[in-house]
Amino acid sequence: MTGKQLCIHGHFYQPPREDPWMDIIFPEGSAAPATHWNQRICQESYAPLAWARRLDGQGRIIEIMNCYEYMSFNFGPTLLTWMEHQAPDVYARVLDGDRKSRERLGHGNAIAQIYHHVIMPLATDLEKRAEIAWALADFEARFDRPAEGLWLSEAAVDTRTLDLLAQAGVRFTILAPRQAREVADVDRDNWTPVAEEGLDISEPYLVELPEGRSIAVYFYNGPLSQAVAFEGLLRHGDNFWGRLSFSAGKGLLALATDGETYGHHFKFGEMALAFALSQARAGASGVALTNYAAYLADNPPKRRARIHESSSWSCVHGVERWRADCGCCAEHRPGWNQRWRGPLREGLTAVKQRIDTHYQTLGATLFKDPEAALIHYGRVLSGLDSESEFAAAHLLPGLAQERTHTAWKLLTMQKWALSSFASCAWFFDDLGRIEPLNALTFALRAMQLGARTGLEDLEPLLLSHIGQAASNDPALGSGHDLWNHEVRPRRESVETILAQALIRLWAEGRLPAPGAEAEVSWPGLSVTIAVEQNGGGTALGHRAGHARIHWARESGSDDSTWAWELPRAGDPLSGCIRVGEAGNKCVPASYVPWGKRQALALAWVRRVEDELWERQVAETHLGVHLFLPYREAQTTQTGAERWDRLWAALCWQWIMGEVSACRDLLDFLAERGRGHPDRTLLTLRVGRALVQRLGQNAAHLDDVRRIMERAAAVDVVPDLHEAQNIYWITLRNEPAAAGAGQALGFAMGCPLLP
Ligand SMILES: [Zn+2]
Repeated sequence: MTGKQLCIHGHFYQPPREDPWMDIIFPEGSAAPATHWNQRICQESYAPLAWARRLDGQGRIIEIMNCYEYMSFNFGPTLLTWMEHQAPDVYARVLDGDRKSRERLGHGNAIAQIYHHVIMPLATDLEKRAEIAWALADFEARFDRPAEGLWLSEAAVDTRTLDLLAQAGVRFTILAPRQAREVADVDRDNWTPVAEEGLDISEPYLVELPEGRSIAVYFYNGPLSQAVAFEGLLRHGDNFWGRLSFSAGKGLLALATDGETYGHHFKFGEMALAFALSQARAGASGVALTNYAAYLADNPPKRRARIHESSSWSCVHGVERWRADCGCCAEHRPGWNQRWRGPLREGLTAVKQRIDTHYQTLGATLFKDPEAALIHYGRVLSGLDSESEFAAAHLLPGLAQERTHTAWKLLTMQKWALSSFASCAWFFDDLGRIEPLNALTFALRAMQLGARTGLEDLEPLLLSHIGQAASNDPALGSGHDLWNHEVRPRRESVETILAQALIRLWAEGRLPAPGAEAEVSWPGLSVTIAVEQNGGGTALGHRAGHARIHWARESGSDDSTWAWELPRAGDPLSGCIRVGEAGNKCVPASYVPWGKRQALALAWVRRVEDELWERQVAETHLGVHLFLPYREAQTTQTGAERWDRLWAALCWQWIMGEVSACRDLLDFLAERGRGHPDRTLLTLRVGRALVQRLGQNAAHLDDVRRIMERAAAVDVVPDLHEAQNIYWITLRNEPAAAGAGQALGFAMGCPLLP
């Protein structure tokens, strides 16, 4: 392919937020009303890009574009793990985007990303190899093909990393233009130093590596990427396209930004992107869409480049941002400093060194080759290999069961120790932020697993370093204070896990009756709670029994007995749960960290609100008929404030039911609905009902139009996002569904795009 070619790359990533015991993300207050930031950014960016609306002049939908089909992208493995389970429809579009682009271009849009987003030049050789191997295994498991390219966290690079990438079969990576040091033609030694402005970025370069290996490197367009990320170029789709089509010339025009720029940093940025992609897809201005791998296949590098060692895209000092107070910062606040970065890096590194030694020493008695086991463990995490396949390949034969448990614990220890180096911990402006505290929590978990397998307590070692750091907020204090107040209380034990399992069962209304059992599970572990036949006593509301904790990807379990007085008055989270044979260990659930208490509160409020809703729906079935027409000069309903409390359920009866209602009820509902606090939940519930109708047989398609008309009569606009997506995917070519499509806001009668 020749002529003007365009590749827009998005780097999609979230800091690891998983709790290292439960392996799930707990609520983060700053993302409310969303549960946490992964969910919120998924709603604002990842989902809108998967389902970007293109509208006609009347605001009707002419296409729902999967931007992942037309843009180059990488998603962090930890983010995709979350998305796979918590936003499976978006995840399916990401995979589909890669598949369709492969069909169109011969090479997929997706590229891999360093597994834990660590700064590679600061990692040890074994860490580098593990991060790359885990990343490539994760990619292959998801996209069903080997990765051709890989995104380096923060584009942080050194020659050793490039060489390991090349050895692993990776063909290219992407860097910022200022990371190029000098260039030469492939066949001449005419090396010339280059600066960002003078670098020709329209072609890939070859970086030569030891022993005849090499890798291709793309340098993205700095000014355009900057304009997209920071200068509001996404405000208008036609401006964005104008800039792109003007800048495209001979060779490749390639942009790279954080993917969250589209929709999260700039609301509706995904629509501007969809517009530009649709223009290029149609060949406007002679521009054709491609991706890095497809372009590379057609255009092998004609020039060579040498890079600046240990450089990155977001620190002009190299990689100092992730270990020193270099001055790079997300937000410059007067009087603040980042001197905490050094002690944090040194503390975590000191812990990791002890953990590595422990792993090697103990691992030598458990694994055939501890390093190979660590590198291949990524295949277990990704699901490419089963646990038994892994055990057969890597564990020494004839190990006693207890020794096998230890081997798996060592691998989990390494996983969380690696997590503690995710670059985000150093990126922002304070030690007291959530990212450094999460990094320390991962280290805490790794240290706990170390201790369970015979390593000495590393807490004093870590504190000797982070004790020298301090938050810029005097109220948060030193690293020592943060550790004591924020991090150490997160440490889970059999007792705290049991407390959460019991309270969750209670909050969800499924605490088993005497003689029965129930299971509570998180991705990292599951708990089976069994209640004794006699309930452990005669007192009403008293339960006792035993419990078993199973850890994911680890053989072995933890068993305990427990006894609990069910909450009947006061704070349900402050009761005492007795754990252990003696039953004298009291665990007040108030000891559980905020995010986990919030998760329990959320489980409770979901159940209670659902129950109240069902009750309201059942009662208002009759209530609709009891809303009498007004008489004479009556202007509102008698007892209006009480009818108002049933607003959402009355609307539901009218919208979903076959009932007739008097005009005055409809007017009342329309008028009372303005700014009604129940409105959001009602629009979601009606939206879900529409999704359900679309998934049923054709006979229910008429319901869609009827529901939309009835909703309009009481001035309710259902949340149509998912219903529109489903219509677009499964029904847009069905003549029988045309009426439903029109009702859902689609333009009809115009030629639909593929
Ligand atoms: Zn810097």
